[in-house]
Amino acid sequence: MAHLIEEAKSGRASCRTCRKPIAKGELRFGEEFDSQFNDGGSSHRWHHLACAASALPDALKPTLDEYGGEVAERATIDQLISAGKKATKPGAFPYADRAPTGRARCMFCEAAIEKGTLRIAVERQVDTGAFVTKGAGYLHPACASEQLERDQVEAEGFILGLKANSRLESAELDQVLAEL
Ligand SMILES: [Zn+2]
Ligand SMILES: [Zn+2]
Repeated sequence: MAHLIEEAKSGRASCRTCRKPIAKGELRFGEEFDSQFNDGGSSHRWHHLACAASALPDALKPTLDEYGGEVAERATIDQLISAGKKATKPGAFPYADRAPTGRARCMFCEAAIEKGTLRIAVERQVDTGAFVTKGAGYLHPACASEQLERDQVEAEGFILGLKANSRLESAELDQVLAEL
């Protein structure tokens, strides 16, 4: 499976971006994600095309280019994609997400971050032995405030960064912020 565009088969799904229902027969964008409930399988999160263009421009663009059917307001969607690409800074830190695997360890407590749980990604220096580079470091939300203190990172700016960069639902983001 992959990302896809299709006509909504029913009017029951809601858009993950704006939370409003997607009408039956309307084109929708299916964002593929690894489902923790589906035994390693994957599933789709649905978005209105216009919402996906703004929120997930990099995911929508190639899918839209491949889609063979007619797209109403295609020009508008393309404009939204360009605008959305400018607005999002891919890989900007810090951000919060759900751990896609159970392999990462928390920088602070060094325990593994369980697959599917909420985590915070920050930029850190990685010493490979041969050279120092920048990479992502991960934290349990509950460990983050102590790590910030240790690194003397100013919390207010950090929280603003999290809010701007995270692609979580607002309830999930609230959960991360509550644990900080
Ligand atoms: Zn929407
Ligand atoms: Zn931890």
